[in-house]
Amino acid sequence: MNFNPLRWLFGLFALDIGIDLGTANTLVYVRGKGIVLNEPSWVALDKRTRRPLYVGSEAKRMVGRTPQSLQVVRPVRDGVIAEFEITTALLEYLILKAHEQSFVPFPRPRVVVGIPAGVTEVEMRAVYDAALTAGAREAYLIPEPLAAALGAGLPIQDVEGTMIVDIGGGTTEVALLSMGGIIVARSLRVAGDEMDEAIIQYFRNKYNLLIGPRMAETVKMEIGSAAPLPEERTMQVRGRSLVTGLPEVVEASSVEIREALARPLETIIQTVKDVLDEAPPEVVADLIETGVCLAGGGALLQGLDRRLSDELRLRVWVADDPMAAVARGAGMVLEDFDNLKRLLVDVDRFL
Ligand code: ADP
Ligand code: MG
Repeated sequence: MNFNPLRWLFGLFALDIGIDLGTANTLVYVRGKGIVLNEPSWVALDKRTRRPLYVGSEAKRMVGRTPQSLQVVRPVRDGVIAEFEITTALLEYLILKAHEQSFVPFPRPRVVVGIPAGVTEVEMRAVYDAALTAGAREAYLIPEPLAAALGAGLPIQDVEGTMIVDIGGGTTEVALLSMGGIIVARSLRVAGDEMDEAIIQYFRNKYNLLIGPRMAETVKMEIGSAAPLPEERTMQVRGRSLVTGLPEVVEASSVEIREALARPLETIIQTVKDVLDEAPPEVVADLIETGVCLAGGGALLQGLDRRLSDELRLRVWVADDPMAAVARGAGMVLEDFDNLKRLLVDVDRFL
C-alpha cells in the first residue's frame, strides 16, 4: 500500500480495532500491532446498580465464588448479545485498554466486530449500536465464519469452495465459503459449554459426584478427546459427593471422558455432514482438494481433527492458534480495508 501521510497522522490519534466478542473469550486486534488483548468474556456486576465492577479474567476467577452483592455474567450468550448495557461496558473497557496499550489518548476507533452467521438483523443492530455507544467512531460487522476462515489463512476469495468449522463456547458454526461469500452455513448451540455440561452429567450419574463447570472444563482440556489417544490418561477429579455432601476425589480416565463427550460430538459431526449434504456437488468436489479447517477453542479437543477426517473422508486440520482466528481475520480486514471491505455486512440495510 502507498504511504499516505494524512492517514498516518490520523493513525497516531485513532486506532483501527478488530473485536471477537465470543461467548467464552473476547479478543482485540489493533491494526499494525496484532492481538493485544485476550480475556474471558465475563463481567462482574454490582447486583443493585448493575454497574460492571470487574471484566475479563478478574471476573472469571469469581465465577461460583461471588459474595451476595456481586453477580458474574457472560454478556454474550449463544454468540449474540444477551444484555446490551453490559456488552457496551465490556466493549468500552476493551476499547480503553487497547488505547492505553497503544498510547493513543482519544478512544474513538474504527471497529470491526465479528457476528455469528445467521443472527437476525435486530441482533446485528444491537452489536452495531453497542460498538458506537462504547465510543467507536465507525463500526462494521463481519460474519464470523468469513473472519475465522480469513484468519485461518483459507483462500476465501477464490472460486473453489472451502469449509470452516468454528467450535466456540456457546455455538458451533459450520460454513461453506466461496468468492468471499457464504454458500451454506449452519449454527448450532452445541459447543464447548455443552461438552462441559456432558462431563458434569457423567460424573453425577456414574460417581454421584457434583463437579463445577470450571473443573469440567479443565477435565475436557486435560484428558478430553474425540478419538482414541496413543496413550490413554487419567486425572484426579474433585467435587462434592452427592451421597455424603463432603468433598471427594475420583480418578477418571480419558476413555471415560470420551464416552461422556460422545453425544455433543456426534451432534457437531452430524451438523457438518448436513452442511455437506446441502452443498452443491461442485463445492463438495472442491473440498477434496481444499479440505476442512477447524477453528475456535473446541478445535483443540484432542483427536477431533482425526475423528472428523475419518467420518467425512476429507482432509481436516486445525488452524494455527484456532482461538484467535476470528480476531485475526477481523484484523486482516483493517490491514487491507479497501480490498476486503466487501466481506463486511452491509449495515445500511438495517439503519
Ligand atoms: P468463543 O468464540 O465462543 O468465545 P472460543 O473460540 O474462545 O469460544 O473457545 C472457547 C471454548 O473452547 C471453551 O468451551 C473452551 O473450554 C474450549 N477449549 C479451549 N481449549 C480447549 C482444549 N484444549 N480442548 C478442548 N476445548 C478447549
Ligand atoms: Mg468464536
